[in-house]
Amino acid sequence: MQVTPRVIAFHYTLKNPSGEVLDSSSGAEPLRFLEGAGQIIPGLESQLVILQVGDKRTIQVVAAQAYGDVDPSLMMEVPRARLGVERELEIGDQFSTRGPNGEPGGVFTVVKLEGENVTLDGNHPLAGVDLSFEIEIMSMRDATQTELSHGHAHDGAGHHH
Ligand code: ZN
Repeated sequence: MQVTPRVIAFHYTLKNPSGEVLDSSSGAEPLRFLEGAGQIIPGLESQLVILQVGDKRTIQVVAAQAYGDVDPSLMMEVPRARLGVERELEIGDQFSTRGPNGEPGGVFTVVKLEGENVTLDGNHPLAGVDLSFEIEIMSMRDATQTELSHGHAHDGAGHHH
């Protein structure tokens, strides 16, 4: 038997282990995703797909199943001059990198400024953070053929990308 993947819409409030709210869909449209398409972190998806419409849960996702553990090889100290930036740098500034063929690389964030050196961190801001999602399932429906061919969910109002 072939099962059509579903499009699941849910509201969420994301907190870190200290209880700080990192993100929330409150006051906005619920987040929609196509089942099995890798649109949301796997550790969250696996716990959402077994729920029913109307269910409210707090779902814990450990860092390794969310944005991954911190990869020390993505932390690097470089001379400020090598960045080729004229203005003053600040903690939190971000740089996009390009691969050898001009393809988009990672995003690096300035995490430390010391003398002539800058420490850049290419880890996702939520790498190494255990996440807690308070969620409510708003709707579940079969995905449309268009959604299946695009590999993502569309909202009810039409086609937005
Ligand atoms: Zn599409």
